[in-house]
Amino acid sequence: MIAIAALAGIATWSFLEYVIHRWAGHDRRLVKRTMFGVEHTRHHSEGDYFAPNWKKALMAIVIVPLITVPVGALLGWGIGLAYSLGFVGFYLTYEWLHRRLHVTAGTGPYAKWARMHHFHHHFHSPAVNHGVTSPIWDWVFGTLVWPEQIRVPERLAMRWLRDDEGEIRAEHREDYALRRSKRKAA
Ligand SMILES: [Zn+2]
Ligand SMILES: [Zn+2]
Repeated sequence: MIAIAALAGIATWSFLEYVIHRWAGHDRRLVKRTMFGVEHTRHHSEGDYFAPNWKKALMAIVIVPLITVPVGALLGWGIGLAYSLGFVGFYLTYEWLHRRLHVTAGTGPYAKWARMHHFHHHFHSPAVNHGVTSPIWDWVFGTLVWPEQIRVPERLAMRWLRDDEGEIRAEHREDYALRRSKRKAA
């Protein structure tokens, strides 16, 4: 039961990761009204901006009792705690992974998929690919796109993508290209 409760907590965050990003992050009616929406708009426009870690830590600390108490009262404290730790653990994993996507190249098929999935959202269409850790909810809601190549605006290019001359590193050329700013091209 404890393991199932922890898995249910993970699944709950996975779903909320999609919902919060899609609606609080990108629905015009909600963006300006939520803290996530404001922070997320800045993340998109600056590329390397992330909400400060203290906000995320505070969120995690507040969430644990908020979930543990009602679930624990209803189903027992072991289950309540396992559920909330699964939830918060996966939330923090998501925060960590999201930052890694932006600041490191990563290795292996999952790292490659997660980056192309997320940067398609950033640079091609913010209306698709809202999930960060998995494609499940994008698939469920019909917003999943498997991009072939990402065209990254020069100004927002991730550091790991470019060599010292500012060109895309050889190992990423199949997956990424630079979109030069018009001013420079002229
Ligand atoms: Zn991002
Ligand atoms: Zn977004």
